Amino acid sequence: MSNIRIEHKIIISIVLFTLLLVGLQRYEVSQDIAQQFIASKKDKNTLLLNTIAPILGVNYSLGLDDANKEYLDQIVNQNSDMEGLTITSANGKILYHYYKKQDKETEKDFSEIDSSFKSVTDPITGEILATAEAHFDDHEYQTMLENNQTTTFKLFGITFVLLALFVILLKREFRSLKELTLNVLQYDPKINNFTLVKSTRSDEVGIIHNAIIAMVEKIQSYAETLDRTNHILELRVQERTKELAEANQKLREETLTDPLTGLSNRRAFESHFKDISQLAQRNGVEVSVIMCDIDHFKSINDTFGHAAGDDILRELGGIMKNAIKRSSDFIARYGGEEFVLVLYDTDMNDATQVCMRIQENIKSLDGFESQWGKIGVITMSFGIASIVPSAESNYENLIISADLALYRAKYEGRNRIVSA
Ligand code: GH3
Ligand code: MG
Ligand code: MG
Repeated sequence: MSNIRIEHKIIISIVLFTLLLVGLQRYEVSQDIAQQFIASKKDKNTLLLNTIAPILGVNYSLGLDDANKEYLDQIVNQNSDMEGLTITSANGKILYHYYKKQDKETEKDFSEIDSSFKSVTDPITGEILATAEAHFDDHEYQTMLENNQTTTFKLFGITFVLLALFVILLKREFRSLKELTLNVLQYDPKINNFTLVKSTRSDEVGIIHNAIIAMVEKIQSYAETLDRTNHILELRVQERTKELAEANQKLREETLTDPLTGLSNRRAFESHFKDISQLAQRNGVEVSVIMCDIDHFKSINDTFGHAAGDDILRELGGIMKNAIKRSSDFIARYGGEEFVLVLYDTDMNDATQVCMRIQENIKSLDGFESQWGKIGVITMSFGIASIVPSAESNYENLIISADLALYRAKYEGRNRIVSA
């Protein structure tokens, strides 16, 4: 049944419905015709009795019973559809009796056969002389009516059952379409929730169903490819972001680091110094700045070469870095052969101690063997400035003071510590 096309199912349903209507109409018409036949026959018989009754009345009143018998035989012969005719006198005596069929069975059936009665009266006195009873056969029509009814009911029944079947089938088609539509509406490629499988039907519903499944499979495949591509892209973006972050970090470090000594550079110093000064101002603690410069460095360069000078700068950088102990202490290469130290929460006295420690440690460089020769004694000059920063104080003044102190240390003979 599912292979019959919907189009055909609709046509068959319409045809069946039309047949049903036509059958109903035909039944009504044929019933009407049969009823009318029966009615007209009855009328004819009534008319016959009405016609013969006065003649019988005249003859009986004149005692011409034989004439009546002859007349009645004629009537019976002329009306072949008459099953029986009985004339009964007023006192119950049978005056005339005719039965077409003589077997008893048929006689018994007379009750089912249509009968007409008519009183036979005396034409002058109006006295009832007898009763005429005629039986007519309308069995044929009754049977026809019954057969018609049975056949019509059978046809009606079959057509109705078929129609109901096709209507149910049509309804079922729409159920499948409804289910399909619902699945399509709820379909989400992300969770792949399309549950319908391929249909084996070859009608329109089957074709639509399978076409949609094929489409969903394609969408699913595209969605999965898209998902995979997105995932790969996401991983690539993550990788690139990480690389970029690392490159940025490296760049930041490079911009804040002095490449020769590995110490912080002047840019880092300026940023740090500003921050630390603000922190000290907030906390009301003292900050010391030490400016230091290698003595007669030019002559070292001139004597042993620039590369030897570089080596010494590196060595000194390491020595100075090791001389500071606190995590809050900061050292940077200020430029050339000058270094700067920022000591948080450190007064002039403690800063001097740090300078002395550096001086002490530099002694380890005495007789430093560079690959270009033995370098003699290396010394440094230090200028210290300390302050508890306030809102009015200018941070840069602290550097200027330290610088002036360093200038004085140079002026006073080098290799010494001068406080501002
Ligand atoms: P002073 O005791 O007055 O400081 O004398 P000085 O010779 O150290 O000072 P001066 O300013 O005359 O010379 C500094 C020298 O430092 C000159 C320069 O060649 C050298 N210098 C600066 N930066 C570097 C560097 O990165 N590497 C090397 N090898 N030398 C440098
Ligand atoms: Mg200098
Ligand atoms: Mg110098």
